[in-house]
Amino acid sequence: MTASVAFISHADCGRHDTGWNHPEHVGRLRAIPRALRNEFDLYEALQHLEGRHATPDELALAHEPSYLKVVEALARQGGGRLDADTIESEGSWDAATAGAGCVLDAVDLSLSGKAVRSFSAVRPPGHHALRASGMGFCLFGNIAIAAHYARRNKGLDRVLIVDWDVHHGNGTQALVEQDPDIRFVSMHQWPWYPGTGPADDRGPHDNVWNVPMPAARPREEYVSAFLTAVDTASAGFTPDLVFISAGFDSLAGDPLGGFTLEMDDVSRLTREMVSRAAQWCGGRVVSALEGGYVPERLGEAAVAHMRALR
Ligand SMILES: [Zn+2]
Repeated sequence: MTASVAFISHADCGRHDTGWNHPEHVGRLRAIPRALRNEFDLYEALQHLEGRHATPDELALAHEPSYLKVVEALARQGGGRLDADTIESEGSWDAATAGAGCVLDAVDLSLSGKAVRSFSAVRPPGHHALRASGMGFCLFGNIAIAAHYARRNKGLDRVLIVDWDVHHGNGTQALVEQDPDIRFVSMHQWPWYPGTGPADDRGPHDNVWNVPMPAARPREEYVSAFLTAVDTASAGFTPDLVFISAGFDSLAGDPLGGFTLEMDDVSRLTREMVSRAAQWCGGRVVSALEGGYVPERLGEAAVAHMRALR
């Protein structure tokens, strides 16, 4: 039996205008519905939902209120730079609050059973954002905010976050590692941007599993290293909800990474997480887009991912 899966997005995510020369441009998101249109059965089977904007109180589950004001003020004044590669435009506050809000809606939908699993196609991405600063194209830690929301606002006892983006989810780690009831698994290229995430960085409560991997290894090595880490992280820890930081820059050919994954691996990793979630927590999976910088590949991967979420 297939579950009810939601495809969640928000028109405002397209208003984060980084320019076409920036790798994290709006064409990335546009590629997803374009790819989905060719998959009529999947398109028809998904719930197509527009998310909401996260409120400042919700964003403050993971970020300093003073930083939220900085992000909002920079957008209101027409945009600018938060760091060398993290840009804001006039629409970035609305985009980033929508991106975070989509993932919060995904938690609500999963817990209510309306959409037990979902994929949120959002930008800017989130997993490099820190408590009081943007970083690496990311403004707010969409997944980290949603994990705290699930724990504190929705009363879940335990959550697991897995991150297969080619870059270390340093922001997610920083934003969740103080909570021992959130466990975090990140597989990432090493050495590579942002330079964090060695295997012996287990977080202050040993609740972090970093899986640094060299570039250009056979695909299966990445899949098996990732799943081994997931199984180690979940030994004796039954999550009530599983989050996926779905970065598709771990696919072969991405300009910002050197991993070798193919569409079949996206399907496999997704199915493996769905089957574990089925055993742990009624199949509840909340997935959100992180990286992925070849738009056509990103669109195809999102389709494979959503197909495997069903
Ligand atoms: Zn990435």
